[in-house]
Amino acid sequence: MRMLLAGNWKMNGLRASLGEIRALKRGLAETPPRGDILICPPATLIAEAAKAAEGGPVAIGGQDCHPLPSGAFTGDISAEMLRDAGATAVILGHSERRLYHGETDSLIAAKVKAARRAGLTAILCVGESQAQREQGRAAPVVAAQLEASVPAEIAAFDLVVAYEPIWAIGTGKTPRAMEIAQMHETVRALLTTRFGADGAEIRILYGGSVKPENAAEILAVPNVDGALIGGASVKAADFLAIIRAAPGL
Ligand code: PEP
Repeated sequence: MRMLLAGNWKMNGLRASLGEIRALKRGLAETPPRGDILICPPATLIAEAAKAAEGGPVAIGGQDCHPLPSGAFTGDISAEMLRDAGATAVILGHSERRLYHGETDSLIAAKVKAARRAGLTAILCVGESQAQREQGRAAPVVAAQLEASVPAEIAAFDLVVAYEPIWAIGTGKTPRAMEIAQMHETVRALLTTRFGADGAEIRILYGGSVKPENAAEILAVPNVDGALIGGASVKAADFLAIIRAAPGL
């Protein structure tokens, strides 16, 4: 399966940061990747980031979208607007959106549908909290999130799933390779139950404190088809080091 390494800049980046996208493009021109590379900058930078990335292997994505194409929703951005600005994908249901914006699975499902309507790949995030893992509920929590946030109408090829244990995001902590393998196997089984043979083709990313130092080990875990990378995606040098560490990339 073709790997996807996706960077989530979160609420970081001014126009000066576009130099990182240019640096990434330059770095990849020397050794073109065999997988897909995506950067999701803040919405204010999408159009310029898409221009900066033009002609190279780096695609640009959004970090959220509204379920509707347009309307009286002050401050919101639709999937169509992301697409129009040059995005080809959108992260949805990130735990920071679930936590700080009260996003529910049903709202996230509507956003996944919106991504499809606009022709964007939806990168759907799921993951358990520290307490849920300690209570032995990690797998049922992730299963319930997947069940409720993948809309009936979605086609397998429009979807990427990112398993992001909340306690691993931005903390420097990661699950053991065996724990990642178990969860990704669970997610794979759920996807094949849901989509049949197509479920085997859906990329399942791991996210949570992926760094140049641990990328090779994590990306070699079975059913890990790439990574969603926060902190280490903001600087081209770190992101390039992760790309170079990825087996098969
Ligand atoms: C994320 O924001 O999705 C993420 C995985 O962040 P970090 O890599 O910084 O843990």
